[in-house]
Amino acid sequence: MVVDEKWNKKLKDFLKRYYQDDVLELANNYPDERSLIVNYDKLEVFDRDIARDLIEDPESVILSLEFALKDMDLPLSKKLDNAHVRVSNIPNRIPIRDLRSKHLSKFIAIEGMVRRATEVRPRITKAAFKCMRCDTVTYVEQPGNKLDEPYSGCENENCGKRGPFKLVVEQSEFVDSQKSQIQESPESLKGGTNPQSLEINFNDDLTGKVSPGDRVIINGILRSVPRALREGKSTFYDLVLDANSIEHLDQEYDDLDITAEEEEQILELSRDPKIYDKIISSIAPTIYGNDHVKRALMYQLFSGVTKQFPDGTRTRGDIHVILVGDPGVAKSQLLRYIVKLSPRGVFASGKSASASGLTAAAVKDDLGDGRWTIEGGALVMADMGIAAVDEMDKMRDEDKSSLHEAMEQQTISIAKAGIIATLKSRCALLGAANPVYGRFNRFESLADQIDMPPALLSRFDLIFLLLDVPESQMDNRIASHLLQTHYAGELMQHKNNISSSDITQEYIDEQMINIVPEIEPELLRKYVAYSRRNVYPIMDEDARMHLVDFYTSLRKQGEGKNTPVPVTARQLEALVRLAEASARVRLSNRVTMDDAVRTTDITMECLKNVGID
Ligand code: ADP
Ligand code: MG
Repeated sequence: MVVDEKWNKKLKDFLKRYYQDDVLELANNYPDERSLIVNYDKLEVFDRDIARDLIEDPESVILSLEFALKDMDLPLSKKLDNAHVRVSNIPNRIPIRDLRSKHLSKFIAIEGMVRRATEVRPRITKAAFKCMRCDTVTYVEQPGNKLDEPYSGCENENCGKRGPFKLVVEQSEFVDSQKSQIQESPESLKGGTNPQSLEINFNDDLTGKVSPGDRVIINGILRSVPRALREGKSTFYDLVLDANSIEHLDQEYDDLDITAEEEEQILELSRDPKIYDKIISSIAPTIYGNDHVKRALMYQLFSGVTKQFPDGTRTRGDIHVILVGDPGVAKSQLLRYIVKLSPRGVFASGKSASASGLTAAAVKDDLGDGRWTIEGGALVMADMGIAAVDEMDKMRDEDKSSLHEAMEQQTISIAKAGIIATLKSRCALLGAANPVYGRFNRFESLADQIDMPPALLSRFDLIFLLLDVPESQMDNRIASHLLQTHYAGELMQHKNNISSSDITQEYIDEQMINIVPEIEPELLRKYVAYSRRNVYPIMDEDARMHLVDFYTSLRKQGEGKNTPVPVTARQLEALVRLAEASARVRLSNRVTMDDAVRTTDITMECLKNVGID
């Protein structure tokens, strides 16, 4: 490497001025620790031109910084030969879907969620080739995926033959390597678009630092690699980010910006005595009726409070809800709405085709080049949000068995092919299930009809049974509601075709108003995020008593009876969560008697429905 002395001195000055102590600490712990982390902001304060060069030509600036680091005078007689300089806080943040060829070879920052990560395995960085004719060893740097041989021939001037060569593994140099794929996080996707993803390379001490479900910012250099073809070379290239540094993100809804003006609006709304009805009517306004379900979904959005105990145990605050019902009663529609309203919503189907399914899987795929890859499924990607899982009746058996752990401990464990991993899935589950045999039979077991073990069903805090009962008046209303939604403009024409005395002009006007949500979805999302971030309500004594009494009477009623879902201590926890969620709806730090009554009301509604009455 050609070293410009002035430039080298300047970089050494920078490291001395800002990172003297860190460099000493690094030297102390070297080679167990091998990285010096430099904050981009400091570099910019020190010299704007260097900072700009770092973004434009990161490869050579990082090399120069590393050279300067090795060249520093250290009191210890240590050489930091393999130390890295890693730069955090890169301002050049690019959304994955906006990556273009102009970003190639630039220093960029990518934010997202880790979807897959391979095992950590050695990669050859400098290969030693022994000439089979003269035994001379020639070293070749290995930047790419394919092993490069000494193309210019044997190093020995007297030989110079082009092989054959033999790779000497013992004399070659290796580095730990790991590949990963990150994808756009659910909260950055508007209106249910498919997330896009990017492949990431991690080397040396950056390996083993991320697992599926982690929210991260990866700073690194964007590279292109030709697509693999069976024969010849492709003219199309894929993007890969060579990671230089990793920043783990705080798990709250940091990324949802709430302006001071919006905060004012949120506080104003929370003081409205009609706030509950306003929110309920803003959930899926095009779906007629189903107010109890919408109320439950409101509680689910706001969530109870997760409690962490000193002994390390925790109880979840997330409220799991399942909609069980006949086909065509708007279950899927409701799920899609909630995904849109939740600050962090992920939609998935029980019969999903991907290997990871709902939970997680260890697979051997193209990302790993023969290595095992751990891939997080919907419940991992929905960490700290809501996972809406449609068609749960069609779930795979592997998913069924790991769902117990996912719903209660909120983790997903994998043990396969020597890989043991635990991923986080701290999300609320909103499930929908159709009856396996076409329509529901009220007199048969609920669990059997949706092909789900009762133990799994009992992990849901609320179970709704939605039956498609033909009632002409109701059908008319839904029909008119549907028509208004779909063809608001042509409404008057359609009205003439619906022969019902029910549909008066006043009725239509009233319904039209309902279809426009009282609270805009974007504001409601922020309202929910604001509440979950800031409100941790404590329960009043009389509210607690009310819940305990209710629970005790449920236990008594349930005794000896063959109830569809057994009443266990789990129900008491569910009651607490619902009451806390109810307080959070109005941003209250107190769970009052009113919240407790709302809780027992909705619980009764569900129980009556599934048959404990
Ligand atoms: P499911 O998932 O329960 O089988 P879908 O969500 O696919 O049902 O709904 C089927 C169709 O019927 C959708 O177009 C939905 O909008 C409509 N629909 C059903 N019930 C209602 C309702 N109560 N209000 C408005 N539309 C409804
Ligand atoms: Mg459906």
